[in-house]
Amino acid sequence: MDSKKPGEIITDIPARTLIGGLRALSNKILHSAGRGDPNVEFLREVSAMLIDFFGCDEIELWLKAGGEPPRYEVMRRSGDEFSFEIIPSVQDDDSAAIADTTADSGLERLCRSVIQAAVDASLPFFTKQGSFWIGDAKNPALFSSVAEVPASLRRLNLKTEFSSLAIIPLLVGEEIIGALQLKSSQQYFFTEYELAFYEGFAQTLGVTLLNHRTRAALRERVKELTCLYGIARVAERPERSLDEILLSIAELLPPAWQYPEVTQGRIMLDGQSYATSGFRDGPHKQTAEILVGGEPRGIVEVVYTEEKPKLDEGPFLREERNLIQTVAREVALIIERRQTEEEKARLQEQLRHADRLATIGQLAAGVAHELNEPLGSILGFAQLTKKSRDLPRQAADDIERIEKASLHAREVVRKLMLFSRQMPPQKSKVNVNRIVEEGLYFLESRCAKEGIDVVRLLAPDLPDITADRSQLHQVLVNLVVNAIQAMPGGGTLRVTTRAEGEDHVAITVEDTGAGMSEDVVKQIFVPFFTTKDVTEGTGLGLPVVHGIVTSHGGSINVESEVGRGTRFEIRLPVAGPQDEQKNG
Ligand code: ADP
Ligand code: MG
Repeated sequence: MDSKKPGEIITDIPARTLIGGLRALSNKILHSAGRGDPNVEFLREVSAMLIDFFGCDEIELWLKAGGEPPRYEVMRRSGDEFSFEIIPSVQDDDSAAIADTTADSGLERLCRSVIQAAVDASLPFFTKQGSFWIGDAKNPALFSSVAEVPASLRRLNLKTEFSSLAIIPLLVGEEIIGALQLKSSQQYFFTEYELAFYEGFAQTLGVTLLNHRTRAALRERVKELTCLYGIARVAERPERSLDEILLSIAELLPPAWQYPEVTQGRIMLDGQSYATSGFRDGPHKQTAEILVGGEPRGIVEVVYTEEKPKLDEGPFLREERNLIQTVAREVALIIERRQTEEEKARLQEQLRHADRLATIGQLAAGVAHELNEPLGSILGFAQLTKKSRDLPRQAADDIERIEKASLHAREVVRKLMLFSRQMPPQKSKVNVNRIVEEGLYFLESRCAKEGIDVVRLLAPDLPDITADRSQLHQVLVNLVVNAIQAMPGGGTLRVTTRAEGEDHVAITVEDTGAGMSEDVVKQIFVPFFTTKDVTEGTGLGLPVVHGIVTSHGGSINVESEVGRGTRFEIRLPVAGPQDEQKNG
């Protein structure tokens, strides 16, 4: 299009040519809209077509975007330079809307006024449809020469690098959805006559832009939902580990953001990182915190590895902020669910164990009872025989062996009975420190012989607990004997007591001995499990400890490392065992 000289009468472009050109432009834009590119990419293309067609120096396209208060999407192109951003709407008071005196915002405010239909179309410089246009904006005398121009407009300081300006509302139905700004440094670059045609074109443009944006937004929402659906499906698979799940979720992130090709996703949890393959940092990041039960445990992170136009939050959309937060919440829920499941499995295992012990206990009780009597006879008669004189030496030795073996067997039976709780706990106030002292008293000489240092760390302020004294004694002796047996070459035995809060007492027995493999640790509470020689171990020590501790309402914790040592910790409630069957 040719430019026009100031004052020239404007009829030089035949209507048919203008209409034809605008129709071709509309078709091109429609065609491009059909391809379904991301919104910004589409606008970039449209801006190139517009500037090419209008031949002006700069164009700006303003579109109302949703939200409260409404935002504006603003696209600007001058020459090859394209920019797009979402700007919040200022709370402008309509009367002051065009009274601003700063260079840029003057034009911006005028544009907002046009979009808000807050202009008086009867004023000079405005068309009947509400478009603003001026051909000599740099001329300060221009406004003042027109009498009807209100003071507010006269004070309007337009961006002076352009002489010709036009702001055309994009009218869709009854509503103005945005505005097209045309700017040229040439005077009277366009005319009121052309403007009438542009106003018609602006309606087509408005519908197309709106349509495209709606469809692009819809596609984004579908991507979001696909992502959330993917997460729900991944989380449903119980056979997958949490690590695998988090990795899969990280991979689901990029396709849900606007530019999947340059998007990386990462989940950080408890210092561990789960990232898309080939993850790298970039200039833009959107993150959301993972809160599990109110505790911050990590973040979900989406990274753009390239610069992208500025939108609501950096280059990210408001909807993407919502999405990343939803993803972080989903991740937190998955973790919570896993934790509850693990806890449940642990409790079930405990129950199974207790059940197994109880069954064995019943069996053992019967067997022990049956064996007790014959054992007593064997021992009694052996001891009697031992007393008789004139026994051949060999026979005396054999009798000695019989006595020892039956003493061992009696010990087994005693433990079996203890284990099957043939003897109910005798409750009384017990000082745990004293139990430790008494228990160690008998074993200290043995420790000294085997080169074992005994260290006591007994809390002076330990509250008395309600418990069965002799059973606690059993617990301590069993643990200490095990520790001693684990240190045949000497070492350190450390026994600690401490108060845990107001209502628990903890006892730890630690050694620097052989330690246990994971496999052994799993079986230590199983009756008759032993790694020791027949004469040394019965495999009943720890099951007895377990039985006593649980019947006192306490718990046992074991930590062990092969070659380094073992640590048993027992926690007992100060209140003592709760009566299980009050009414028989
Ligand atoms: P026993 O001592 O008669 O073998 P326990 O029930 O007391 O039976 O212990 C079971 C097994 O647990 C032992 O045989 C041993 O393998 C292992 N164990 C227990 N305490 C320790 C310890 N302090 N260090 C290394 N191993 C231990
Ligand atoms: Mg033992």
